[in-house]
Amino acid sequence: MAVVIDGKQVAASYRETLKERVTELRARGIVPKLKVVLIGDDPASHSYVRGKERAAQEIGIDSQVLRFDETISEKELLDLIDLMNEDEEVHGILVQLPLPKQIDESRVIMRISPEKDVDGFHPENVGKMMLGLDTLLPCTPHGILHLAKTQTEIAGKHVVVVGRSQIVGKPVGMLFLNESATVTYCHSKTDDLGAMTRQADILIVAVGRAGLVTADMVKPGALVIDVGVNRVEGRLVGDVDYEAVKEKASAITPVPGGVGPMTITMLMHNTVEVASRG
Ligand code: NDP
Repeated sequence: MAVVIDGKQVAASYRETLKERVTELRARGIVPKLKVVLIGDDPASHSYVRGKERAAQEIGIDSQVLRFDETISEKELLDLIDLMNEDEEVHGILVQLPLPKQIDESRVIMRISPEKDVDGFHPENVGKMMLGLDTLLPCTPHGILHLAKTQTEIAGKHVVVVGRSQIVGKPVGMLFLNESATVTYCHSKTDDLGAMTRQADILIVAVGRAGLVTADMVKPGALVIDVGVNRVEGRLVGDVDYEAVKEKASAITPVPGGVGPMTITMLMHNTVEVASRG
């Protein structure tokens, strides 16, 4: 029977250390400031942004959500980013994705100053991460690495990542590689997914398909990190058949309450990092 990794608890204790850092910064007259741009009325985006606001408030980060109608033009958004880039009091800028179709997402990501890119999506930060240099790391992958480290040594482990998106799969594999794991990537074209996942000491699943990973696809004693968030019959579930895999794995993250709280916490971490740079 697996240990259930309590992401909420790990996140809460991490936030305590961030709170202390913010107290020190405020004593030096630095107030960490995060600006979040929220466009349109996608319920999931609104819910994520509420979570970010709550976490910022708890830690002592000054956060402000700028809400816009989905008719906002790309130019208006880019001009707004320019203003925030120039504002010395703003440490972190986050544009909540996805964006309306008239706006080119990559142009927006590239316009945010890499120094204030608390999502860690700017190519300069992605490049630095690839090189293993100190930089603002993408929040979900960083949160996953932190959770895994609470359970096991990473070096020498075989990590299998299912999913190769720019925001989760690809970077999370890179972070584990930087920690000297042996990394295998799987995706929708992978032939015989189970043959791959059964080799994993650490299995990370970031696909967005409920029930994709069944117990027969998991090596006994593996650490299983379920990133997926799917709504099934009104309930949130991950990509892993949780009840069955729990019997086989040594540790597993629940959905909700696993990776999600860590993602938000690492966003706060990045904001505090930028503020600390002065
Ligand atoms: P994307 O849709 O961008 O990527 C999904 C990936 O899964 C793709 O690489 C795709 O392969 C792969 N895939 C699709 N079907 C299969 C299959 N049958 N077998 C193997 N691989 C498959 O999703 P994201 O990375 O953005 O998100 C993944 C999940 O994680 C979602 O449920 C999302 O909601 C959740 N999420 C959770 C977060 C959290 O904080 N808890 C944060 C971010 C995301 P291909 O590239 O070949 O198309």
